[in-house]
Amino acid sequence: MSQMPVFHAKCSCGALCLEVDGDPVHNHVCTCTRCQRASGSALAHNVWFREDDVRIVSGDYSVWFPQGETTPDVMKAFCRICGGGGFSKSGTYFPGTVVIAAGTFADPSFPAPDHVHWWGDRPHWIDLADTIERHAGN
Ligand SMILES: [Zn+2]
Ligand SMILES: [Zn+2]
Repeated sequence: MSQMPVFHAKCSCGALCLEVDGDPVHNHVCTCTRCQRASGSALAHNVWFREDDVRIVSGDYSVWFPQGETTPDVMKAFCRICGGGGFSKSGTYFPGTVVIAAGTFADPSFPAPDHVHWWGDRPHWIDLADTIERHAGN
Protein backbone atom coordinates (compact mmCIF):
# COMPACT_ATOMS: atom_id res chain seq x y z
CA MET A 1 0.00 0.00 0.00
CA SER A 2 1.39 3.37 -0.96
CA GLN A 3 1.28 6.17 1.54
CA MET A 4 -1.06 8.87 0.31
CA PRO A 5 -0.55 12.46 1.43
CA VAL A 6 -3.09 13.86 3.89
CA PHE A 7 -4.01 17.53 3.77
CA HIS A 8 -5.95 19.55 6.34
CA ALA A 9 -8.24 22.44 5.44
CA LYS A 10 -9.76 24.92 7.88
CA CYS A 11 -12.10 27.89 7.77
CA SER A 12 -10.71 31.18 9.06
CA CYS A 13 -11.97 30.66 12.65
CA GLY A 14 -10.74 27.06 12.68
CA ALA A 15 -14.06 25.46 13.70
CA LEU A 16 -14.73 23.73 10.38
CA CYS A 17 -11.91 21.29 9.61
CA LEU A 18 -11.66 18.96 6.65
CA GLU A 19 -9.19 16.18 6.07
CA VAL A 20 -8.36 15.00 2.58
CA ASP A 21 -6.52 11.91 1.36
CA GLY A 22 -4.59 11.55 -1.77
CA ASP A 23 -3.80 13.64 -4.75
CA PRO A 24 -6.35 16.02 -6.21
CA VAL A 25 -8.42 14.88 -9.18
CA HIS A 26 -8.15 18.36 -10.69
CA ASN A 27 -6.02 21.27 -9.53
CA HIS A 28 -6.17 24.60 -11.32
CA VAL A 29 -6.12 28.34 -10.88
CA CYS A 30 -8.45 30.70 -12.69
CA THR A 31 -7.87 34.40 -13.27
CA CYS A 32 -11.17 35.14 -15.06
CA THR A 33 -13.02 38.23 -13.87
CA ARG A 34 -15.86 36.07 -12.52
CA CYS A 35 -13.47 34.07 -10.31
CA GLN A 36 -11.78 37.29 -9.17
CA ARG A 37 -15.17 38.55 -7.98
CA ALA A 38 -16.31 35.21 -6.52
CA SER A 39 -13.09 34.67 -4.57
CA GLY A 40 -12.51 38.33 -3.73
CA SER A 41 -8.93 37.75 -4.80
CA ALA A 42 -6.65 38.18 -7.81
CA LEU A 43 -6.98 34.52 -8.68
CA ALA A 44 -9.02 31.51 -7.58
CA HIS A 45 -7.18 28.29 -6.75
CA ASN A 46 -9.75 25.50 -6.59
CA VAL A 47 -8.98 21.83 -6.11
CA TRP A 48 -11.22 18.82 -6.74
CA PHE A 49 -10.99 15.66 -4.63
CA ARG A 50 -12.92 12.40 -4.78
CA GLU A 51 -15.88 12.57 -2.40
CA ASP A 52 -14.69 9.39 -0.64
CA ASP A 53 -11.34 11.02 0.10
CA VAL A 54 -12.81 14.01 1.99
CA ARG A 55 -13.79 13.85 5.68
CA ILE A 56 -15.32 16.55 7.86
CA VAL A 57 -13.28 16.35 11.05
CA SER A 58 -15.08 19.03 13.05
CA GLY A 59 -17.47 21.96 12.79
CA ASP A 60 -20.95 22.66 11.54
CA TYR A 61 -21.71 24.08 8.14
CA SER A 62 -24.58 25.78 6.35
CA VAL A 63 -25.28 25.21 2.69
CA TRP A 64 -26.15 27.67 -0.04
CA PHE A 65 -27.32 27.04 -3.61
CA PRO A 66 -26.09 30.04 -5.61
CA GLN A 67 -28.18 31.31 -8.51
CA GLY A 68 -26.71 32.20 -11.87
CA GLU A 69 -23.67 29.91 -11.70
CA THR A 70 -22.02 28.91 -14.96
CA THR A 71 -22.38 25.26 -13.89
CA PRO A 72 -25.78 24.15 -12.57
CA ASP A 73 -26.44 22.30 -9.27
CA VAL A 74 -23.69 24.07 -7.35
CA MET A 75 -23.86 23.65 -3.58
CA LYS A 76 -21.59 25.74 -1.36
CA ALA A 77 -20.95 24.95 2.29
CA PHE A 78 -19.66 27.48 4.85
CA CYS A 79 -18.64 27.39 8.49
CA ARG A 80 -21.65 28.30 10.66
CA ILE A 81 -19.54 30.47 12.93
CA CYS A 82 -17.33 32.52 10.60
CA GLY A 83 -18.98 31.92 7.21
CA GLY A 84 -15.61 31.08 5.73
CA GLY A 85 -13.74 28.04 4.55
CA GLY A 86 -15.94 25.20 3.53
CA PHE A 87 -16.27 23.37 0.29
CA SER A 88 -18.55 23.10 -2.69
CA LYS A 89 -20.01 20.48 -4.98
CA SER A 90 -21.34 20.44 -8.49
CA GLY A 91 -23.27 17.44 -9.72
CA THR A 92 -22.52 18.18 -13.34
CA TYR A 93 -19.00 19.64 -13.60
CA PHE A 94 -16.95 16.85 -11.98
CA PRO A 95 -19.48 14.34 -10.56
CA GLY A 96 -18.48 12.54 -7.35
CA THR A 97 -16.03 15.24 -6.30
CA VAL A 98 -15.76 17.95 -3.65
CA VAL A 99 -14.18 21.31 -4.48
CA ILE A 100 -11.98 22.92 -1.86
CA ALA A 101 -10.32 26.32 -2.16
CA ALA A 102 -6.59 25.65 -1.88
CA GLY A 103 -6.11 28.66 0.39
CA THR A 104 -8.03 26.87 3.16
CA PHE A 105 -5.15 24.38 3.38
CA ALA A 106 -2.68 27.23 3.97
CA ASP A 107 0.00 24.60 3.34
CA PRO A 108 3.15 25.63 1.45
CA SER A 109 3.71 21.99 0.44
CA PHE A 110 0.28 21.69 -1.21
CA PRO A 111 0.61 20.57 -4.86
CA ALA A 112 0.93 23.38 -7.39
CA PRO A 113 -1.87 23.84 -9.92
CA ASP A 114 -1.41 22.09 -13.29
CA HIS A 115 -2.76 24.97 -15.34
CA VAL A 116 -4.37 28.39 -15.23
CA HIS A 117 -7.55 29.41 -17.08
CA TRP A 118 -8.30 32.84 -18.59
CA TRP A 119 -4.70 33.94 -18.24
CA GLY A 120 -5.38 37.07 -20.33
CA ASP A 121 -7.82 38.38 -17.72
CA ARG A 122 -5.29 38.35 -14.87
CA PRO A 123 -4.29 41.51 -13.02
CA HIS A 124 -1.14 42.87 -14.73
CA TRP A 125 1.13 42.15 -11.75
CA ILE A 126 0.31 38.40 -11.46
CA ASP A 127 2.89 35.86 -12.62
CA LEU A 128 3.08 32.10 -12.10
CA ALA A 129 5.75 29.40 -12.38
CA ASP A 130 6.56 28.32 -15.95
CA THR A 131 5.53 24.74 -15.09
CA ILE A 132 1.89 25.90 -14.86
CA GLU A 133 0.29 25.63 -18.30
CA ARG A 134 -1.42 28.84 -19.44
CA HIS A 135 -4.82 28.63 -21.13
CA ALA A 136 -6.31 31.67 -22.82
CA GLY A 137 -9.83 30.41 -22.06
CA ASN A 138 -11.49 27.54 -20.27
ZN1 LIG B 1 -15.24 29.16 10.98
ZN1 LIG C 1 -12.73 31.54 -13.52
